Amino acid sequence: MSLQSEIAKRRTFGIISHPDAGKTTLTEKLLLFGGAIQKAGAVKSNKADKAATSDFMEIEKQRGISVATSVMGFEYLNTKINILDTPGHKDFAEDTYRTLTAVDSVILVVDCVKGVEEQTKKLMQVCRMRHTPVIVFVNKMDREGKDPFDLLEEIEKELNISTRALSWPIGIGGSFKGVYQLNNKALNLFSASKKHIADDSIAINGLDDPKLEELLGQRLTNKLKDDVELIETVAEPFDRDLYLSGYLAPVFFGSAINNFGVQELLETFIKIAPSPQGRETDTRKIEPNENKFTGFIFKIHANLDPNHRDRIAFCRICSGTFQRNTFYQHNRLNKKLKFASPTSFMADNKSLVEEAFPGDVVGLYDSGNFKIGDTLTEGESLQFIGIPSFSPEIFRELENSDPFKTKQLEKGIHQLSDEGVAQLFIQNPGNRKIIGTVGELQFEVIQFRLKNEYGASCHFRPVNISKAKWISATTPQELEKFTRRYAQKIAFDKENKPVFLASSAWDIEYAAKEYPAITFHETSEWE
Ligand code: GDP
Repeated sequence: MSLQSEIAKRRTFGIISHPDAGKTTLTEKLLLFGGAIQKAGAVKSNKADKAATSDFMEIEKQRGISVATSVMGFEYLNTKINILDTPGHKDFAEDTYRTLTAVDSVILVVDCVKGVEEQTKKLMQVCRMRHTPVIVFVNKMDREGKDPFDLLEEIEKELNISTRALSWPIGIGGSFKGVYQLNNKALNLFSASKKHIADDSIAINGLDDPKLEELLGQRLTNKLKDDVELIETVAEPFDRDLYLSGYLAPVFFGSAINNFGVQELLETFIKIAPSPQGRETDTRKIEPNENKFTGFIFKIHANLDPNHRDRIAFCRICSGTFQRNTFYQHNRLNKKLKFASPTSFMADNKSLVEEAFPGDVVGLYDSGNFKIGDTLTEGESLQFIGIPSFSPEIFRELENSDPFKTKQLEKGIHQLSDEGVAQLFIQNPGNRKIIGTVGELQFEVIQFRLKNEYGASCHFRPVNISKAKWISATTPQELEKFTRRYAQKIAFDKENKPVFLASSAWDIEYAAKEYPAITFHETSEWE
């Protein structure tokens, strides 16, 4: 098959949601449709058990499971679907942000009872930064949730995106009868606890078909007619270009656990979602159909067993064909590397990959060569951009508890930061190490892994920092002036970029007023 057809048949996406909205359940149902798994229950939720939130080893174990489910590939209707899994636990949200740099679109799951939640908003902000196309799946329609019109309004307002319903629910909770497909005017009737997938769509001849009333009763039929009339008068027709540019989210309603609404979602997804897209580098844009292979690392999974230090670096193929046992250029290290056992993941099993195409993700065994964001090419010197670090939310100073193990601590903390476990900011003079995370659990993970894998001991000291802002200036002189004036608050990230560590929003405002030549950035990359 030509490279062009390989690209055209691929869809690489992530499923995101606030914990508990139904991401794992939906993933599993999609895999069932694809025949990638045989029965429900095969996909382990990689989110921590609530009872065990303080037991981070448990979480790490569960994260271990998620190596296998990091990428789930399957074929459906001649399309190769790659689902990139994201951690459910909010303390590992940064992992999710990074995974979103490797997808071409997302499906956002919203719980119809809870509506838009905190994590939903944060994840959508990341999608918006990259103009990632989003399809919304409103889940749990078998429960007494919010009114669907109110939900659409809430999604538009809270997530700052236009919506267009492509299916419409009939009743909700106890009276949920099914969904009406607005495009092809078919009706799907709901039957709870369906274990198998069946084609349950009933063709009707528009809303005036007398069959409708027989099936739904008069009250629900009238309500459906009114709803649909309202949607069709108020809403614009679905515009795929607006969806592809990230401004419009098509919305589906259903119940993942009951396998309801999932097939329409999947089939529409295949039709409208983008195939692997081009990506920006520091020199030029790479198009997927270029013959030469390029790719970047967006996730590194450590092996917790100290006897087997190998890590798995996940590489998203951006262009050309990736081949096993072929030398590729690791641009940051200016080094040639080849991979004898690149791995692909398929629900609960993994296999050796001989070749992979744009949109695919391969797992590369790594003994410490990779950092998040590293680029592989056939020799062209370029670096993919758009894989930024995001401002962490919690900061602590890392202090050495065992002076005899200083070297180990240095090595360990730098490697953990390369893996993306947490962000390390170095403050000079004094080589103070400020660790930034999005959750308390990450500190426990660092402490444990430093001890377990590097034999180093550390403790954390509270610091008066609440925000990290990357800074740039109109001229190097201005930057110099600023960093001298605020030396106490300046630190350097893993790429040695200067960062302003602010104790409050007011701090930033004040500094910005005082130094108008300085721009403060939310992430480590800016335009
Ligand atoms: P995640 O945290 O987003 O991955 O959510 P899960 O898929 O683990 O689902 C959270 C809980 O919601 C589980 O107990 C599921 O069984 C339940 N759930 C998922 N989908 C539905 C649904 O359509 N209806 C109802 N009533 N419960 C659901």
